[in-house]
Amino acid sequence: MASGGEQKVVLITGCSSGIGLRIAVLLARDEQKRYHVIATMRDLRKKDRLVEAAGDTYGKTLTLLSLDVCSDDSVRQCIDSVKDRHIDILINNAGVGLLGPVESISMDDMKKVFETNFFGTVRMIKEVMPDMKKRRAGHIIVMSSVMGLQGVVFNDVYTASKFAIEGFCESMAVQLLKFNVKLSLIEPGPVHTEFETKMMEDVAKMEYPGADADTVRYFKDVYIPSSIDIFEALGQTPDDIAKCTKKVIE
Ligand code: NDP
Repeated sequence: MASGGEQKVVLITGCSSGIGLRIAVLLARDEQKRYHVIATMRDLRKKDRLVEAAGDTYGKTLTLLSLDVCSDDSVRQCIDSVKDRHIDILINNAGVGLLGPVESISMDDMKKVFETNFFGTVRMIKEVMPDMKKRRAGHIIVMSSVMGLQGVVFNDVYTASKFAIEGFCESMAVQLLKFNVKLSLIEPGPVHTEFETKMMEDVAKMEYPGADADTVRYFKDVYIPSSIDIFEALGQTPDDIAKCTKKVIE
């Protein structure tokens, strides 16, 4: 339990869908009411799914705030608005994917991936870190990916963004531990979310300028069909990842 036996305050990014939504609901529904969840999303017009899933925990153990991890102002406003509560656990879940040969992707789109997956997470950590260090308590979770450990064809930019955050976290973890602040990486394999749906839509529209014909053939005839098989055989649900995340913070 948090100091004084109070509920731990958990702030989660990207709760409009998928993994973030399920983590928020699982923690808010904790039988022992150990957590107060601040579920955040960049567009509050998307709140209905979360509110419905939260049920009677909404407004009690779960509150909702607007937060765009790509905006300094939004992050600062959000953290300022919860200042009096102290964040015990920060779960950096917000993320975007990007699939395709580098030559078909604009620099702006590539930067958006890094702005969200890398700088968005760094921005959040930078903002909560001083208070956690001062209180010598806290736990920061970062939702990375197996693609933070291994490169994957035509996933170059997404993979790079996850490698980058892995490097950042590995470097930070030891420094934070000196202040009794933990930093944990979670590296899911395939998870059935809108991420996956969007990836398949992107594959259908994909063009391959500059790509080697064998690579394209491998991608279309081997990688994509085997990814679908892996998804079907081994794909986890957002609830699986939520349970794993709960174990990590317990
Ligand atoms: P979803 O697309 O379902 O969820 C992504 C969430 O991130 C959405 O709530 C989205 O909000 C939010 N988001 C995107 N950009 C921003 C932003 N600038 N500020 C705040 N929120 C933002 O995908 P998942 O649940 O699958 O993904 C969650 C995390 O898990 C990601 O970091 C992803 O990289 C990681 N992951 C996913 C895997 C998978 O197979 N699904 C595998 C491994 C890791 P909005 O609705 O507004 O777009």
